[in-house]
Amino acid sequence: MGLLKFERRDIILIVGIFLVVLGITQYIPFQYSVLIGIFFYFVVKIYVEKRRQSIANAVGDGICMECGSRIIDKKCPKCDYFQE
Ligand SMILES: [Zn+2]
Repeated sequence: MGLLKFERRDIILIVGIFLVVLGITQYIPFQYSVLIGIFFYFVVKIYVEKRRQSIANAVGDGICMECGSRIIDKKCPKCDYFQE
């Protein structure tokens, strides 16, 4: 499980959720919008992890774990993900 593993792109996720929390704070109390933000964070993390696992199970190592593209010359043409 990589749910608790902090990745660099989590910063983008956290910033995005923070902006959403700020937005909905106009309509509901701050402590509730923070709880909603935390909830969204884990939903997205679980979704990303499940998607990654399903890609890995389906195609082995012939496909990029990040975006699902086919690996060419041991790297992804879209995000240059290097296979070990
Ligand atoms: Zn990729």
